[in-house]
Amino acid sequence: MDLLTRPAVPGTSTAEPKPIRILLVENNHEEALMLRAFAVDAGEDLIDVEWTDYLTEGLELLNADEFDVLLLSLSLYEGSETLSKIREQADGIPLILLGRQKDEFKALQAIQGGAQDFLQLDHLDGFNFIHSLRYAMERQQIMHTMERSRTIERYLAYYDTLTKLPNRHLFHDRLIQSIAYARRNDTCVAILFIDLDGFKQVNDNMGHSAGDLLLMSFADRLKGCIRESETASRFGGDEFSVVLSDIEGEHDAAVVAQRILESCKYPHMIADQECLIGSSIGISVFPSDGTNAEILIRNADTAMYLAKQDGGHQYLFYTPSIINGVPEEPAHEKNIRKALENEELLLYFQPQLDLRTGKIISLEALVRWRHPNYGIISPDQFIPAAEKSGLIVPIGEYVLRRACEQNKKWQERGFPAVRIAVNLSMRQLKHRNLLMQVNEVLAQTEMDPHFLGLEITENSAIHRCDETVHLLESLKNRGIQISIDDFGIGYSSLSYLKRLPVQILKIDRSFVVNMTRDSEDVAIIRAIIAMAHSLGIRVTAEGVESGEQLTILRSLGCDAIQGYHFSRPVSADIIEGLLHRFC
Ligand code: C2E
Ligand code: CA
Ligand code: CA
Repeated sequence: MDLLTRPAVPGTSTAEPKPIRILLVENNHEEALMLRAFAVDAGEDLIDVEWTDYLTEGLELLNADEFDVLLLSLSLYEGSETLSKIREQADGIPLILLGRQKDEFKALQAIQGGAQDFLQLDHLDGFNFIHSLRYAMERQQIMHTMERSRTIERYLAYYDTLTKLPNRHLFHDRLIQSIAYARRNDTCVAILFIDLDGFKQVNDNMGHSAGDLLLMSFADRLKGCIRESETASRFGGDEFSVVLSDIEGEHDAAVVAQRILESCKYPHMIADQECLIGSSIGISVFPSDGTNAEILIRNADTAMYLAKQDGGHQYLFYTPSIINGVPEEPAHEKNIRKALENEELLLYFQPQLDLRTGKIISLEALVRWRHPNYGIISPDQFIPAAEKSGLIVPIGEYVLRRACEQNKKWQERGFPAVRIAVNLSMRQLKHRNLLMQVNEVLAQTEMDPHFLGLEITENSAIHRCDETVHLLESLKNRGIQISIDDFGIGYSSLSYLKRLPVQILKIDRSFVVNMTRDSEDVAIIRAIIAMAHSLGIRVTAEGVESGEQLTILRSLGCDAIQGYHFSRPVSADIIEGLLHRFC
């Protein structure tokens, strides 16, 4: 793409490029003249600059006319107030701030507030000026497209498409809110877990579409049994749940449960046939049956199971005596600490494949917890708690050490040498000993740093930017490869990405998931790849589950992939087989 061509809006034509219209609000005349000169050099018909000294006049112009980019002197920028005034006049216009190197801190705050970029006029030349304009417009468009697809995604993420009821995620969110409210106001919350009796027979005898109709009909009745302010949701299959917030106690829950059972006495009309279906209901109440959402859900589920076992079509309250002793939550800080001491943490590895050669170039180390009672627990279930308690620092060090040891062992045993990539949490990145820790592990395991990669998320990369840049530079100078993980779901500005010594961008799985159905996601991925390549950064797509996704990614120029399509995260033994075949 030509440097000055506007980024294409998906589905529109770019046959007649119009000039880029810039509104320049700058009270330093010398600097304004310099920018105008850059624009003139680029060609009058390509860039059209309107200049004013005053912000008030700039805002009026924004309201009256259409511009592609707003360039604003940092000296006229007064924080979020200025930003909202700009958004009021022209929502969605990319904002680039102008200043000097010394203004960087103020600029970072502005970028975190929503500005697109910051141009340091003491280091600017015509080429970089034009480059930045183009990126700001492109980036703004990516954000805009992402916002739209996120709205749809949000609906799909929180609602069940069949019954239109909230799904388990929204149920979970509402439950957490209700518990917080009850805590503050000394009230109770009840959860009703409802499972239809004999739904499988309906599905088997009348077919799946009849089963779907029955679920829809039941969902409607369920809504009729509760107040509008309460949440009924579909958990999946024939399981439903209800949260009753702000109640006084068990009695209120019993009334609703009885109402649901009564509503089951009348047949549902499904494809001209009458269909009677009962339900089993388990109930748990906050705070007596548990003080957090997970325990309450588990206890309501247990009670429901027992109600069904006992003949069904009844409700049952959870009481600790219905099972012998409720097991403690595994992700409790105390338990994670024990897991670390008892060496219950282990590593799985997931290959990253070079799309050009089809070979494994790297293995991502992903931690698992082999719990004596619960079996393998995934990191999503304990990493957040470990982050909160700070235990992620020793866990991270353990993972790093184990990953390097393993990689070194493979190399010594004659396996083709690949890089091992380890995830770093924000907490580790902030920890002042990180560099020392990495050096120590490399020295002790005698692994060549060129075979180590570190993955950090977008948001932790921009946190305390100067220190992070410095730290990452030191790591990179040792030969360690730095990747930005989950790219696209956080926010980072191009000017900061440019400063980070990053070699790989990993596009978040959420963009890859809908790629074959959603052309907007393809447009986003295309733009991310173009942007990364122009900065000399390679791109890995995460969460690739199908050959179709792989073909599209290859056609977009993506460099590498990781995902179930090639391999899930697997144990070290299984990796050995893959290394022989794909290196
Ligand atoms: P991540 O760093 O983004 O790791 C990739 C996650 O995506 C892995 O989940 C992997 O199993 C999953 N994945 C890979 N390909 C596919 C696919 O094709 N489809 C789907 N649906 N999923 C795929 P996992 O192993 O459960 O790890 C989850 C997250 O936990 C990781 O996300 C990472 O943020 C964190 N984590 C794992 N190990 C560590 C660690 O040692 N330290 C830190 N700080 N975080 C870790
Ligand atoms: Ca990762
Ligand atoms: Ca990731």
